[in-house]
Amino acid sequence: MIKIENLKVIFGELNVLKNISLNINKGEVIALIGPSGAGKSTLLRCINFLTKPTAGRIIVDGFVFDSEKYTKQDILKLRKKTAMVFQNYNLLKNKTALENIMEPLIIVQKKQKKEAEKTASNLLAKVGLIDKRDSYPKELSGGQQQRVGIARAMAVNAQVILFDEPTSSLDPELVGEVLSVIKQLTLEDNKTMLIATHEMKFAREVADKIIFLESGHIGSIGTPDQIFQNCKNRRIRKFVSQIA
Ligand code: ADP
Ligand code: MG
Repeated sequence: MIKIENLKVIFGELNVLKNISLNINKGEVIALIGPSGAGKSTLLRCINFLTKPTAGRIIVDGFVFDSEKYTKQDILKLRKKTAMVFQNYNLLKNKTALENIMEPLIIVQKKQKKEAEKTASNLLAKVGLIDKRDSYPKELSGGQQQRVGIARAMAVNAQVILFDEPTSSLDPELVGEVLSVIKQLTLEDNKTMLIATHEMKFAREVADKIIFLESGHIGSIGTPDQIFQNCKNRRIRKFVSQIA
């Protein structure tokens, strides 16, 4: 479903991603872990073209995106195939919960308003917020806003959902409700998901594979047991034990 070939990102003097290559199968849930500044957000943002790769190819669902030669149309195609859930929700402040979810249905999927409303209602129900359909973001808790953010990402109907630390802006008591919505989606939908997170227990529970990113390269990739129990790499053992 996702194939990344020799992806590089250089910001000024800084090599943020150093020649990353990676294969992810359809329906796999991947947890992306690693220290702050390792390049987790940059990697996710490249897959959605929110960050422009310096070099390399990104292939999503058969569509080849080559950072050396691409058109505006190619960027749109990539964005149709991938949807992003942001750390800070990024909801439109002057639109209700329902309208925030209708937005990609109308703009990306070109649905009629009535149909968009129906689909958006179903998605809101799925994240347990149907009673908040007419609330504005400022009337919602952080956890509720993020659940709207997740429903909005689902609305794009992309094959791949990218989560960039979806709970790290939340007060501790609100983290659980968001993680349980994501967990439920991993069980119900056969979407391919890439989740950058510092929630190690959650990563261990939901992920098929864990990628440990350090200083812009893949330090290790393996099943949760391989990374959390039997990891030979001392730095990774130290990282997961400090944070778990
Ligand atoms: P992570 O998500 O793992 O914390 P990031 O991908 O956000 O890491 O950042 C990786 C590195 O790239 C950091 O050193 C960060 O300061 C740098 N960086 C990220 N975005 C930019 C940018 N737009 N311009 C310059 N440096 C950036
Ligand atoms: Mg980040």
